[in-house]
Amino acid sequence: MNDSYGRRIDYLRVSVTDRCNLRCIYCMPESGIPHIDHSSILRLEEIQQLTGLIHHALDLRKIRITGGEPLVRRGIVSLVKGISPLAETVMTTNGILLPELASDLHAAGLSRINISIDSLKDEVIREVTRRNVTLSMVEKAIEAAKENNLDPVKVNCVVLKGVNSGELAAMVRWAQSMSITMRFIEHMPMTGSMCSHIPRDEILREISADLGKAEFIVTEGTADMYVTGSGTRFGIIAPVDGGMCANCTRLRLTAEGELLPCLAGGESLNLRDMLRSGSKDGEIIKAVHDLVSKKPHHGACGGVSMWRIGG
Ligand code: SAM
Ligand code: SF4
Repeated sequence: MNDSYGRRIDYLRVSVTDRCNLRCIYCMPESGIPHIDHSSILRLEEIQQLTGLIHHALDLRKIRITGGEPLVRRGIVSLVKGISPLAETVMTTNGILLPELASDLHAAGLSRINISIDSLKDEVIREVTRRNVTLSMVEKAIEAAKENNLDPVKVNCVVLKGVNSGELAAMVRWAQSMSITMRFIEHMPMTGSMCSHIPRDEILREISADLGKAEFIVTEGTADMYVTGSGTRFGIIAPVDGGMCANCTRLRLTAEGELLPCLAGGESLNLRDMLRSGSKDGEIIKAVHDLVSKKPHHGACGGVSMWRIGG
């Protein structure tokens, strides 16, 4: 279905949990998330049922499983198995639990994976995640993804002033040596985030200084892809600097069953309550259509939490 700005809304991001095994400084408070009553979180069958109805309403092209950390949700493999026949199913994860789950996820129909890593230095990774995570753990996750055909693997790094700025060119080189795609995400000022924003121009300047002038080549999904003077490729996802809203085709389903037309908030639809109060499939499908017709064209980030809506 097209929204009122002519965008075909066919990409659903599903947050399957608000819990996480890490506490990234740009995403979650150190103490973790406020306690949410277990009964407020969608059960796996409810996620599958709602995803099916949203697919019925919109003819989805892609479903991204995210969180919180999706791999900490018990039953994640069977959920992927239930959802993957609907549309291409991919995942964003911190990768910590991937080595033990990659094979089953692939067998369940997961096709690709994005892994988050914000530095090549163990001490910086620990500082950012506030947990005992090392580069070698993330590299094992990348290898597990590749060995199980969950590729091409993309890695996402949130650029943080005074934390990992200074490492960006090294990360581009490292990604090339691992045969994966490196993408830098502009930090968004969300609730719980303790970091400051570095704009796209500054990211480009830093990488160009080391690897030769970076030139724009193509836009792939939300990322603008560049090639450096020395021939290495990387991407920048720049939600704050803009440019992404005009082509946004996404809806987001939170772990509590709220359907959001925009990361920046605005009107939403409580599908959990509709489902639990016995709404008919047709009523839910119509409500999804109504929400899509009201999807905003541009929003201002802030006041919402990444761990809640899944990035
Ligand atoms: N736990 C998984 C992970 O970290 O990949 C999936 C959920 S996480 C919320 C999804 C994406 O959002 C990650 O790539 C993360 O780096 C990004 N993210 C979280 N907080 C952010 C922020 N304040 N600004 C920009 N990106 C952010
Ligand atoms: Fe967890 Fe992902 Fe948020 Fe880090 S970015 S705290 S891994 S949900």
